[in-house]
Amino acid sequence: MLEFNYSMPTKVIMGPNCLKEHSQELRNYGKNCLIVTGFRSSKLNGSLEDAMEALESENIKYYIFDKVEENPTLETVETAYLENKEKEIDFILAVGGGSAIDAAKAMAVLFYNEITAKEMLSLKNLKAIPVLAVPTTAGTGSETTPYSILTLHNEKQKRNIGQRVFPEIAFLDARYTLNMPYAITTSTAVDAFTHLAEGYLNSKANLLSDTLAEKGLQLFGECLDPLIDKLCSIEVREKLLLASSIAGMVISQTGTSLPHGMGYPLTYEKGVPHGTANGILYPGYLSIFKNRDKLNRLLSLIGVTSIDQLSTIFHQILEFKVILTDEEIKRYVDGILSNEEKLKNHPEKVTREELTMIYKTMIVK
Ligand code: NAP
Ligand code: ZN
Repeated sequence: MLEFNYSMPTKVIMGPNCLKEHSQELRNYGKNCLIVTGFRSSKLNGSLEDAMEALESENIKYYIFDKVEENPTLETVETAYLENKEKEIDFILAVGGGSAIDAAKAMAVLFYNEITAKEMLSLKNLKAIPVLAVPTTAGTGSETTPYSILTLHNEKQKRNIGQRVFPEIAFLDARYTLNMPYAITTSTAVDAFTHLAEGYLNSKANLLSDTLAEKGLQLFGECLDPLIDKLCSIEVREKLLLASSIAGMVISQTGTSLPHGMGYPLTYEKGVPHGTANGILYPGYLSIFKNRDKLNRLLSLIGVTSIDQLSTIFHQILEFKVILTDEEIKRYVDGILSNEEKLKNHPEKVTREELTMIYKTMIVK
C-alpha cells in the first residue's frame, strides 16, 4: 500500500533577473526587511545589488547584516537579532550560500519569538517571521528546506537547530553562481548530489521524493563532464542550481543520512567544506548499501557504471586535505552510533565495523 505525507510550501521562481522581475512578491511580507548575507561574495556577484534594487522598487525599507561566516555560529545569529531587534523587522531576505540562508532562518525564529538563541535551542515548534531566499551557491538547497544547521561551539559540533523554517519564496538566478571559484562549485555540487543520494537511499523515501530525486540525479549527471573539464557555462550552472533546489525538496521529506552525520566532524574539526566532507565518504557508504537494485539505478541516473568510477571523479574534482587518526575515527564512529536520526534514515542495519570502514576508505589526496 502506498503511504506518504508530502508538503513543500516554498514558492520557487527561477530565471535570469527573477528577483527584480518579481519584486512585487516582496510587498506581501511587510515594510521593513533585513537582508542577511555573507561578508563578500554577494557584493561581487550582483545578488546584493539586485536585492536592494528589488526592495527599493517596492518602497520597502531595508537594513543589511553582512557578517554571516561559513558554517555560521549561534553567536552570529544572536548578534544579528540583537543589532536589529528595535527595527520592527517584518521579514528577512537571505542572499548567499547555505550559511547565509541557514543563519537567516534561525534569526527569523528569534525575531518572531523575541527570545535568546539558547532558548531557541531548547524550545520546540517555534514560529518565525517570513524568510525569502536567494541562493548564490548551488548545493545546500537550503532555499527549499526547513533546516538550519548552525555551529554550536558549546556542544563542539554542527547540527540542525530543530526548528522548521521553510523559506516562503526561493528566487533561483544562476547568474549569481557564474563566477563561483572551482573548489566551491564542486564542493557545493557534490553536496547537492549527496542530498539526492541520501534522500533516494533513505528509509523515508517515497514515490514523490524519488520522482524528484531521479530528476535531480539526472541533472547532476549531465553536469559531471563539464565539472571534470572545468567548463561551467550558464546552462550547466542552471542545471546545478535546479538540481540543488530539487535536492532540498527531497531531503525536506526524507532528511539526510549517514554521510551527513559522519561529515559534520570533518567540517567542525578538520575544516573540510561541507559538500566535500560528505562526498569523500561515499565510496564506503555506497559499498555497504545492500539494495543493489536501487543503488545501480542511482549510478545509472548520473551516468556512471560503478562506485569506483564515481570515486575517481570525486577525487578529480574535489579539493581538500584531511588525515584521520584511529582515535579520531573511533570518536567519530561513536558519534554517529549515537545519532539516532541519521541511523534511522539509513534503511538497513549498520555495524560499527561498517562505519569504521567508511572513514577508513574515504577519498584521500
Ligand atoms: P557557504 O558557507 O554559504 O559559502 C561558502 C563560501 O562561498 C563563502 O566564502 C561565500 O562567500 C562563498 N560564496 C557564496 N556564493 C558565492 C558565489 N556566488 N560566488 C563566489 N563565492 C561565493 O557555502 P554553502 O555550501 O552554500 O553552505 C554551507 C552551509 O550550509 C553549511 O553550514 C552546511 O551545514 C549548510 N547546509 C544546510 C542545509 C539545509 O538544508 N539548510 C543543507 C546542506 C548544508 P561569502 O561569505 O563572502 O558570501
Ligand atoms: Zn549537505
